[in-house]
Amino acid sequence: MLEEIKDLELLSTCHAEDKFHDECGVFGIFLNEYEDDCEAARTTFYGLYALQHRGQESAGIAVSNGHEIQLHKGMGLITEVIKPDHIKKLKGRLSIGHVRYSTTGMSNVVNTQPLVFHYLNGMLALAHNGNLVNTVELRKRLATYGSVFQTTSDTEVVANLLARYSQDNKIEDALARCIMDAKGAFALLIMTEDRLVGVRDPMGIRPLCIGELNGNYILASESAALDTVGATLIRDVNPGEIVVIDQDGLHSRQVIDSPRRAHCIFEYIYFARPDSTIDQVNVYQARREMGRQLARECNIDADMVISVPDSGTSSALGYAEEAGLPFEEGLMKNRYVGRTFIQPTQKMRELGVKLKLNAIEEVVCGKRIIMVDDSIVRGTTSKKIVQMLREAGATEVHMVVASPPTRFPCYYGIDTSRREELIASTMDETEIEKFIGADSLHYLSMEAMFAAMKSSEDTFCSACFSGKYPMEIET
Ligand code: SF4
Repeated sequence: MLEEIKDLELLSTCHAEDKFHDECGVFGIFLNEYEDDCEAARTTFYGLYALQHRGQESAGIAVSNGHEIQLHKGMGLITEVIKPDHIKKLKGRLSIGHVRYSTTGMSNVVNTQPLVFHYLNGMLALAHNGNLVNTVELRKRLATYGSVFQTTSDTEVVANLLARYSQDNKIEDALARCIMDAKGAFALLIMTEDRLVGVRDPMGIRPLCIGELNGNYILASESAALDTVGATLIRDVNPGEIVVIDQDGLHSRQVIDSPRRAHCIFEYIYFARPDSTIDQVNVYQARREMGRQLARECNIDADMVISVPDSGTSSALGYAEEAGLPFEEGLMKNRYVGRTFIQPTQKMRELGVKLKLNAIEEVVCGKRIIMVDDSIVRGTTSKKIVQMLREAGATEVHMVVASPPTRFPCYYGIDTSRREELIASTMDETEIEKFIGADSLHYLSMEAMFAAMKSSEDTFCSACFSGKYPMEIET
């Protein structure tokens, strides 16, 4: 029986495995006004619940009661890790939480977050979304000062830097020094016994926003988490800005003023929820516009547009609208699969798509289909879906992709495949079309992608398409 369950878990991962993975989601709240001692922990729980798509391997909540920090974390979804009895014990007016999908650092309980540690001036909790690109150098430097490391996560490197710089400084001063040293992509929440601090990397690669709920401040990876807890989006944390929230309110300090912005464009393509607004651009509207741009670039004679649910749907609607074709639900998704415990083999990945998606024969039979997906990573899932549509009677299947070919890995906190596993890095478009078995294949051009974002290339990181990384990578 156990083996059967493991096989099912393995199979269920297959569609998700053929996507880039966001690494983490963070949420933090400072309550001035509150009804009960568990309100901060409870609100953080619901905030993380809304951010679950950003990481499903582990979850945790840390709470401060003004004197000490308590923590509960573990492997699994937020609902598996944090039970009502845990919330009852997590008492205090400040809280930070984290959901994680590991990229750097092994996937085990030692690397779960928030990290909580004692330092000279008390206790600190840390929750990090992103990835530092100079951890080897920083670890070496810290080791010469006597630092020891318990985990393989780069968050611990930040913790050690903070501990070192906070000996004679307030935590925000220490953090200001810290972000001068740390290079990479980060949205970081830090909680002391009496303060909540947030910082975003100087180019704004990873998202972080500020919300307000009944006079209380919240920091979160995405605005959808603010909506979920009834809060209002105030603004994004600026790249290179530190925000400190204490009993006197919110204070801001612009530590680094980089002229280069590099917001991760993949947040808009796939990672973020469509109901989130990041850096003043709504994700749903961005995806829909990418679909419209795609329709302008393609000229396909077809009967209908369908999407690979759910991430392809907003772009498919935009495509259908622009092309003047009906949008239909040709593929149905099983919403209750998608977690991973076992690394699937390529063979199992190919077998597993049907567990996640099924074609609706009554919709697609005898029809010429335009199928919209957000991206192609390995191509194995696309191949299986094209085959599935043909078996359901589709007479033509044209695959259109609402992003350019993904050719390069990400070093900024996103779990991409190795370069040689990215189909577009080893095959040209004609070869990919043949591999997936589609009648035609079309990708969104870089120019059209930026036109959809109504912005220029130097506002975004788009390195997984172009190979032009906005900052140097440690080798
Ligand atoms: S390389 Fe791609 S996934 Fe990584 S930060 Fe840049 S745009 Fe985002």
